[in-house]
Amino acid sequence: MADRTFHEWMTAAKGYVEGPAKAWGDTIEKTGTVPQVIWDDLRQHGFLRLSAPREYGGSGLSFVQYLQLLEQFAHMHGSMRVIVHVMNSLWRSVDSKATPAQREKFVLPLIRGDIRITFTLTEPNSGSGADIKTTARRDGDDYVLNGEKWMIIFSDVTDYFLLFCRLEGTTGGDGTLALLVPRDAPGLIIEMMEPAMGITGTGHGHLKLMNCRVPVENRLGDEGDGLDVAFRGFLDPSRTAIGMTCVGAASRSLELAAQHAQNRVTFGQPLAKRQTIQMWLAEMATDIQAARLLCLHAAEKFDGGESITTEAAMAKLFGTEMLQRVTDKALQIHGGIGYFKSSEIERLYRDARMQRFEEGTSEIQKMVIARDVLKRASERV
Ligand SMILES: Cc1cc2nc3c(=O)[nH]c(=O)nc-3n(C[C@H](O)[C@H](O)[C@H](O)COP(=O)(O)OP(=O)(O)OC[C@H]3O[C@@H](n4cnc5c(N)ncnc54)[C@H](O)[C@@H]3O)c2cc1C
Repeated sequence: MADRTFHEWMTAAKGYVEGPAKAWGDTIEKTGTVPQVIWDDLRQHGFLRLSAPREYGGSGLSFVQYLQLLEQFAHMHGSMRVIVHVMNSLWRSVDSKATPAQREKFVLPLIRGDIRITFTLTEPNSGSGADIKTTARRDGDDYVLNGEKWMIIFSDVTDYFLLFCRLEGTTGGDGTLALLVPRDAPGLIIEMMEPAMGITGTGHGHLKLMNCRVPVENRLGDEGDGLDVAFRGFLDPSRTAIGMTCVGAASRSLELAAQHAQNRVTFGQPLAKRQTIQMWLAEMATDIQAARLLCLHAAEKFDGGESITTEAAMAKLFGTEMLQRVTDKALQIHGGIGYFKSSEIERLYRDARMQRFEEGTSEIQKMVIARDVLKRASERV
């Protein structure tokens, strides 16, 4: 399967999205859970190792190619889209500072789908990033951790938490650590949170670390490298990928809206004959294409080895805001019946709200873009 061409992967992705994925989506909504068999199915189809290089057991696709597949996968139920996105993104973060032994123990099994690791940054009492408050104290061959993390996806099923904390007494970017915390680490309490608005069935945890012991050998990079592992190398492609998931979900919403507009007759005419509806459809299609091109532009630069921090922030910002506009119009075209759970647009509308939080809100993306604008301007003075 590793030798599939891009065209073959695309055919496989479209077939899966049109076929088995629809039935899985219905199962998730009806039962409120994402059964293990869905993870197994995605893994067996090879969809969890698409973005990794061949030497790691991945498909060896370029980032541009991977994003075009991800657009298709984003037509699926939000919880399945999240699995494909996270599993194809997180290996980069773990790999960025992994020793050869850590690569064998964590990165390659993650790409194979033998283990699960989840990104663990957000805290109830601090801002994400240099403001983190969870502390670590060295005690022999262990770190002793105290603090809290919350909204951590896959907390119910993950094997390790890729957890970011800081050495006691440090502040800002100094003294941060990236640790792979096993779910059975002594002193780690995992409480599952209430279900979220969308991505039904995906579990999110509130972690309490009370003198939680983690071996020093589970640290990625050196002391002080924590935020580098969290952000550098990983976040830029991952934010671009989220932008592309917005393109996929928006395309599906547009398709549903256009179909509904052709079928629904009011005052003797299908909605699709009304100029107002046509204007909305045209605006949605243009919005989607603009987001797609922003993502592909960032991906081309990434494939070329260039830095894409600003381009990735723009792709994510525009993509997530675009998805909001498109799902809102698509729901409006459906009329009241679209608001009922029997309608696919109801689920898409709910799921769409999540992407504006994942991996940095719109406001955080704007801060990244503004920093670049100001830097360029000052360089020209
Ligand atoms: C479904 C879901 C799954 C998630 N999964 C994970 C996960 O697996 N791992 C993980 O670590 N986190 C996860 N998160 C957390 C997510 O990354 C955060 O919600 C997001 O980064 C925003 O942080 P916050 O919630 O602490 O908001 P806050 O930091 O409290 O921000 C609240 C609002 O203020 C704005 N704001 C904050 N600071 C500034 C500033 N300096 N300037 C201007 N505006 C600002 C924000 O943009 C936001 O609109 C998840 C969240 C959701 C909803």
